[in-house]
Formats: sequence, C-alpha cells, structure tokens
Amino acid sequence: MQSDKPHVLVTGGAGYIGSHACKALAAAGYVPVTFDNLSTGWRDAVKFGPLEQGDLTQRSTIDPVFEKYNFQAVMHFAALSLVGDSMRDPGNYWRTNVTGGLNLIEAAIDAGCLNFVFSSTCATYGDQDGVTLDESSAQQPVNAYGGSKRAIEDMLRDFGASHGLRHVIFRYFNVAGADPDGEIGEFHQPETHLIPLMLDAVDGKRPALTVFGTDYDTPDGTCIRDYVHVCDLVDAHVLGLNWLAEGKDSSVFNLGTGRGFSVREVINASSAVTNRDVPVVEGDRRPGDAVKLVSGSRKAEEELGWSPSRSDMNSMIRDAWRWHQNGAYKA
Ligand code: UDP
Repeated sequence: MQSDKPHVLVTGGAGYIGSHACKALAAAGYVPVTFDNLSTGWRDAVKFGPLEQGDLTQRSTIDPVFEKYNFQAVMHFAALSLVGDSMRDPGNYWRTNVTGGLNLIEAAIDAGCLNFVFSSTCATYGDQDGVTLDESSAQQPVNAYGGSKRAIEDMLRDFGASHGLRHVIFRYFNVAGADPDGEIGEFHQPETHLIPLMLDAVDGKRPALTVFGTDYDTPDGTCIRDYVHVCDLVDAHVLGLNWLAEGKDSSVFNLGTGRGFSVREVINASSAVTNRDVPVVEGDRRPGDAVKLVSGSRKAEEELGWSPSRSDMNSMIRDAWRWHQNGAYKA
C-alpha cells in the first residue's frame, strides 16, 4: 500500500544532481522513488526513498515501476552527460539519452502520469559568440550531449501537444557544490568536471589540473561558465513541481546566476577557499567546449519564485571541498 504522501519518480536519483533532488523532495514532503541503472550512480546515494533498479533503454524495466506506484510527477535526470565523451562516442549518447527519454515519456503517458520535469542543459544553446543566453536564444548545440538533450525537449513539446503531457524544462548551467550537511555530494568515476578535479589536485590525489585551452577569446584566454549550487538547482525543481500542480502551462527556465567565471577565476577562488595552491598545467582545447555559457535570464526568479542562496563561488567551493575531504561512495 502506497503511503499518503505524493510520490515522484526520480530517474537518475542515484547520481549527483538526482540524489540532491531526492533530498529536497523528501524535505518538501514527497516520497522520491529512484529509478537508476547504477551505471554512473551510487546505491549509497539513495537515502531518501526507495530504489528501483532498471534501465530506461529497456522499456520493460520501467513499466512495472509505474504499475507499483502512483506517481504525481516524473523528474528525469538519468542520462549520459559528459561533453567530451559525447564527442568521442556520439552514438552512445544519441541511443541512450534519446531512447531512454522516449521510453520514459511513453511509459509515463501510458500510466496516466502527465507531469514531467526535465533536466536539460545550456549545452543545447551551443556556442553563440559570447552573448548571454535566455530561454528564447536559438538552440544550436555543438556536441552530441547537447543535441540529445534538445531532442528530448522537442519530444516533450510534441507529446505535450498530442497527449497533454505537461512539462517544466530546466536548462542548467554548470552545477557545483554539495549538500552542506555532507550526506551526499559529487562523485564520478572517472571524474571529468572542473571543480572536483581541481580539488583532487589541491590535496594531491592528482598531480595537477589541466586547463583545457588558454587561447580562447576571453579576458584571460580560458572558457567562461556560469556556476550554480546543486542545492539551489534542485530547489527550483521542487518549485517546478508546484508550478505543474497549480495547473500552469508547460514552460522552460534557465538555471544559472548570470555571472560567468573563467577557468582561471575558479582556480583562484579554490586557492583562496582551501588556502592551498592549485597545481595547474596548460593543455589543448577540449573538443565540443563552447567559449562562454552564461545565463542572461531572470525568468526562474521572476516566474517560479526561485531564489538561489548558496550559488556564490566561495560557498560552492567550500561545500564541494567539505564533501571532497570526507565523502565518497563505495562501488
Ligand atoms: N575544464 C578544464 N579542465 C578540466 C575539466 C574542465 O579546464 O580538467 C574546463 C572545461 O573546458 C570547461 C570548464 O572547465 O571550460 C567546465 O567544464 P566541466 O567539464 O566541469 O563542465 P561542462 O562545462 O563541460 O559541463
């Protein structure tokens, strides 16, 4: 017998962002049911609701989960999500992300669950000559990761028109930080993201951080990104659920702060927060990297009522550093 609390299906709930979403959902009175194939996620990160193991590319593994629970909504995080990887093996990205997304959307519709929150990305905008990006900016992804996410956005619009699937799409900028309570955090194997790699270099787990490209057309020659704290990011998802529950129209929101940081600026901030040097070597550009991705929109604040409170660079690095020193998951 399902409890009276509203249940939300969280695909990818064992991953970095999905696990923080589960914590925020549980705090808001929901039961987050994680659906994850544990290919990149961690069983130990599923602490706030049940785990259902399965693979979205196999529809036969998701249908029974919709039969077992009565979901108020789906939050879809499960995906392959590495820009560099997507350039080396685009087929895997298109197959996994698009097939998985399509199976999930059709399973949700067949089960009568018509509220859908989707984890999309600023990588759907591509490289736009350094302009700040708002939700109406053209979507011209420059890597297969962004392309596969844009395809799912398109699907949501089509199934919205044909089947009444109501959706909130969040286009994330760069997600950073960790749960300030230290219960969960960012842990990828292999790690590819800037801040955890940098912290590895700070405490000697790696010899140095390689800066991917120092000849970009930016003030210090390195790429610029807009970083947002994972806890602020998942708070927006809870607001997205409320938005759908209130019967509002499907919508899309950027989640970023509007402040860009170059790779060198992030390195300097890490050095200041940890009070240690960051060993750095300069390397080649990474294929698929846009020069600058910064949100130029306040739509999430104005319409959703989102108010990020931890997304200043020092708080993000401080929370990531605390997790980095104490936290890890077992395989
Ligand atoms: N980056 C870097 N060295 C690394 C990893 C990342 O210089 O070892 C740069 C990367 O080129 C990008 C920024 O840091 O400009 C953020 O990269 P990350 O992989 O963290 O996130 P992405 O922007 O790809 O989602």
